[in-house]
Amino acid sequence: MESDFQPDLEALTRAISLMCEGPTAARPQALPKALPELGVTSAQAIEWLAPHVFNSAADLGSALAAAHMDPPTPWITWATTQWNARLNQNLLHPATAPAARQLEQRLVSWLAPYFGMTGGHMTPGSTLANLTALWAARDCAGVTEVVASEMAHLSISKAAHILGLKLRKIPTNRMGAMVEGALPSDLSRSALVLTAGTTSTGAVDPLALSGLAAWTHIDAAWAGPLRLTRMSDRLDGLEQADSVAVSAHKWLFQPKESALIFFKDVDKAHAAISLGGAYLAVPNIGILGSHGAMAVPLLATLMAWGREGLASKIEHCIHVAESLANHVNHDDRLELLTWPVTGVVNWRPRDTHSLDAWHQSLPAGMVSTTTLRGETWFRNVIANPSANASAITQAITDVQL
Ligand SMILES: *Cc1c(COP(=O)(O)O)cnc(C)c1O
Repeated sequence: MESDFQPDLEALTRAISLMCEGPTAARPQALPKALPELGVTSAQAIEWLAPHVFNSAADLGSALAAAHMDPPTPWITWATTQWNARLNQNLLHPATAPAARQLEQRLVSWLAPYFGMTGGHMTPGSTLANLTALWAARDCAGVTEVVASEMAHLSISKAAHILGLKLRKIPTNRMGAMVEGALPSDLSRSALVLTAGTTSTGAVDPLALSGLAAWTHIDAAWAGPLRLTRMSDRLDGLEQADSVAVSAHKWLFQPKESALIFFKDVDKAHAAISLGGAYLAVPNIGILGSHGAMAVPLLATLMAWGREGLASKIEHCIHVAESLANHVNHDDRLELLTWPVTGVVNWRPRDTHSLDAWHQSLPAGMVSTTTLRGETWFRNVIANPSANASAITQAITDVQL
């Protein structure tokens, strides 16, 4: 029994080499249909499961991987995520996680100033960061409705629904950014949600509108990390908001689930979303109960790279997106939706009837699709610092229908 909690070093080393080498030659052996009554050894379970996990997994770090907001992860996060699994600290209880709580606070204090915020905390994704922000908006500023563009992420609708807030949708322009003139004149009971990098087109809403409503929340899940780069001015205005959500498992290259919610007035916001309870030594802030030391892999990454190392990777992604847009602009067969601002490129064949044939001719995992005003477009998202602009444009040139 005890040995199940003491590592078999040989098997652990084998698990690590599987992790480093990727797909194995072994063919997956069927898994039991029902919960097995008796187990195998941990070493055997690793061998059995590995082909199922690794063999058909997408390679997010390949030269052509440019379809989704999911980045490859640096190996320092593989190691530090294992530290977390081994220690299993619970940030709900200072007694079980004294260091982990301080490390999260340190991480937040490193990042918050780039967004003009004073503090915040981690959540397992921006879906929950957005819900947390709108909860604070409702209880700090007494808002009764959420105002967001029609291209806002689904999580904004979910949050409004859960919190019992009305949702008012504002039209967008061709680029997918909110049309300023379509806003209601009275926003005194509204939480205005502005998106910094929409999921479909990477558009940035007019962030200068921050401060106009009773509460302004910026959903910077995708493009927020641009604030740490030389392209930081693409998100100017964001620093005037009351709250900002950023997914770390997108452009901060973290394993899922990792995100941050920042507040302008963190003490007030945290007070509004904290509940105490019998067995709790400190009030429970936000939506999560038990949660782990998500800050450790991100802190490790930022220590290893520094701001400059992080920025150069994101800037490379922006350059790949721009080369791709430029290529599309020069290929007579193709149409570009709009010049990319945050690393998302939308394009399609001018002959839209050939879109499916194009899709089948492009390498798997190179593009995704999105629907804009009822029409399908290809979508490239450059979240992968190993994405290679010439390899991607060559694959487009090579399409012969
Ligand atoms: C991805 C995304 C979200 C949701 O974030 P998760 O981390 O996937 O929960 C919200 N808003 C935008 C703009 C996004 O791109």
